[in-house]
Amino acid sequence: MIKSAPAPGATVGEVDVPKAGPGDVLVKVRATSICGTDLHIYNWDAWAQSVIKTPLVFGHEFHGEVVEVGSDVKALKAGDLVSVESHVPCGRCYQCTHDMMHICDELKIIGVHRAGCFAQYVAVPAICAWKNSPGTPPEVASLMEPMGNSVHVVSEANVAGKTVAVFGCGPAGLFATGVARAKGAAAIHAIDINRNRLELAKAMGADELLNGADPDLVSKLTKLSGGYGLDVALEMSGSQKAIVNALRSLKKGGTMVAFGLPSRPGELDLANDVIMTGRRILGIVGRRMFADWVEMQKLLDGGKFDPRPAITHTFKLAEFDRAVATIGQENVKCGKVVLLP
Ligand SMILES: [Zn+2]
Ligand SMILES: [Zn+2]
Repeated sequence: MIKSAPAPGATVGEVDVPKAGPGDVLVKVRATSICGTDLHIYNWDAWAQSVIKTPLVFGHEFHGEVVEVGSDVKALKAGDLVSVESHVPCGRCYQCTHDMMHICDELKIIGVHRAGCFAQYVAVPAICAWKNSPGTPPEVASLMEPMGNSVHVVSEANVAGKTVAVFGCGPAGLFATGVARAKGAAAIHAIDINRNRLELAKAMGADELLNGADPDLVSKLTKLSGGYGLDVALEMSGSQKAIVNALRSLKKGGTMVAFGLPSRPGELDLANDVIMTGRRILGIVGRRMFADWVEMQKLLDGGKFDPRPAITHTFKLAEFDRAVATIGQENVKCGKVVLLP
């Protein structure tokens, strides 16, 4: 699946099988999933225009089988089943040398800055390949990267025993709901403007479902959390309205995790909604490499977290246009979409 021209859409085409360099592994893709980033690239929005050089095989969430290893690679061999971290770190910058590879100064992203996984084969640095536990279903293994975001979000907020709300029930919010449940949140309230997504949140373990457009949302959430307000708000939508509601629903001293990307700079009442109320805002991107992968694997292996209720559709990779159309339909119960090459 190739972003062949600087215009909306994508086309099926043929490219050479990528070569694995000395530090790389060549992976035969078994399952891949569609991320919001891929939709930006497909729709060719302002962000995509500023970052993507065509032609490009895109896609960055995937699982597959190692079929070839570079001469320097010792930890992996042909036949290993892996999921892949899409962030390729430089290994030399301040962040990389201080245990923050996920925010490397020279970060390159698979399927954005280099050839991606919407193909039969993709070459990736061996450091980015995560060996799967035996028996992991391919569709689940293809979601390790996006699920890792949600593990990171929930871990930073320390949710055990807390009253939590998840703003935005797209795939990231759905996974965050399941992870918060697995990590012992006392109550999880899901907020979205789409009823179908709220029902998926219920299946992932949410308690109360609330309409994001309700003008009484803040007071309802405050009431649901003992009159004090939420301990933790996970902002997964990037909507300006949701960000403000998330902050105002928090108790004094509560924590908001900001993960959803707003499309433009927004306004916040820092004085009243953050400073004078002693609230904290944590910005989270990507997955800690590889602390969040370790934790996610434990949650999956221990049966505490199952992403499958959030996987609503599977298509063939070549049916990409159909998959994108399905994601765009308001009246379809659509969570994560998995593609099979
Ligand atoms: Zn992604
Ligand atoms: Zn770096």
